[in-house]
Amino acid sequence: FTEDEAQEFVQRVKRFLGLAEGDPVELVAEPKIDGLSVALRYEAGRLAQGATRGDGVVGEDVTANLRTLKDVPERLHGSRIPATLEVRGEVFMTKADFLKLNQDQEKDSKPPFANPRNAAAGSLRQLDPRITASRRLSAFFYAEGELSEPIAGTQWDFLEALRELGFRTNPIAELCPSIEAALAVCRKLAETRARLAYDIDGVVYKVNDWALQRRLGFVSRAPRWALAHKFAAERAMTRLNDIVIQVGRTGTLTPVAELEPVTVGGVVVSRATLHNEDEIARKDVRVGDTVIVQRAGDVIPQIVGIVESKRPKGAQPFAFPAKCPVCGSHAVREPGEVARRCTGGLVCAAQAVERLRHFVSRNAFDIEGLGRKHIEAFFEAGLLKNPAGIFKLHERRAELEGREGWGPQSTGNLMRAIEERRK
Ligand SMILES: [Zn+2]
Repeated sequence: FTEDEAQEFVQRVKRFLGLAEGDPVELVAEPKIDGLSVALRYEAGRLAQGATRGDGVVGEDVTANLRTLKDVPERLHGSRIPATLEVRGEVFMTKADFLKLNQDQEKDSKPPFANPRNAAAGSLRQLDPRITASRRLSAFFYAEGELSEPIAGTQWDFLEALRELGFRTNPIAELCPSIEAALAVCRKLAETRARLAYDIDGVVYKVNDWALQRRLGFVSRAPRWALAHKFAAERAMTRLNDIVIQVGRTGTLTPVAELEPVTVGGVVVSRATLHNEDEIARKDVRVGDTVIVQRAGDVIPQIVGIVESKRPKGAQPFAFPAKCPVCGSHAVREPGEVARRCTGGLVCAAQAVERLRHFVSRNAFDIEGLGRKHIEAFFEAGLLKNPAGIFKLHERRAELEGREGWGPQSTGNLMRAIEERRK
């Protein structure tokens, strides 16, 4: 995305409205939060319904969960409360709350969330509102839905009206007299975003005047009066310390780059995917290389290239192993396949553990303490070999209770969780 496209956006708006090139068009520049879109409906000043929104359509009803958010008012304030008000916003998790949540997940041997956006989505879609309440979600509101009476004539006044009604709006939104001013806001945010308390992935420019917005209308559901200016993907340079091979549930060997930890867009990255054998060869990635790491939205960090001038002398092309690093069986690549697979099958510990993990996560045993570390430890100790063995764990209860970190109570909890799933 370039600044030229933002200029073109405003020129299109002016042409459509029959304005002269030099006529001013006021814009509101709002940071684009990387969160989950929601819509709240208030009737007679009270919260009546809240739902997630995907691609402009109303999704799941999550009213009870939204009620637990401190940024979602139960009752509207002020003297100008419309009979019906629908307001749209973004639910998100701050970077600090996200790190705290993942620390808690780790303590409980639960899988970590990949990013704040996933954590917010997972927390809002809980069946139990008490879990949502414990997750510290935040929200900003910025758009109108159905309104029984007008409460503003411009986007800027609407944001002010929302604050008077008791909603939280983003304080770094700015009213801009021109696209040049809006682009300056965008440049400033691109530089300072790493220091913000939450992730943003761009800036949205909106024509401020609602009368002009109505004249501009929509083209196939996309408003002609707004433009989302996404930031370029974030990149950083760092050293590739090693390439390790992970073995998946079906035996696929996946190369993973171990990196000298580096901050990319405010997040510390120490691993990145290298996809497969061909990708490594195509990019000629070698251990010791200085690599360019990219992080874009939800995607796992990737290595987009190397800095050849910084390659250490004697760095060797990576030799992809022909044997499984875990069980030593031959790893073969079938014609037409990109992946090399371990042929060890049942003898391969990596595959067995991954199959167990997959089974456990699919059946939600993990909520009660069968996390990755436990599965690996049980497998190594011979307590658990395959999914069916989970239901026979009670036969080895005495051994379990004697294990480090386990006692009668935690063992009892695990036995009960397993019994629950047997039904
Ligand atoms: Zn293997």
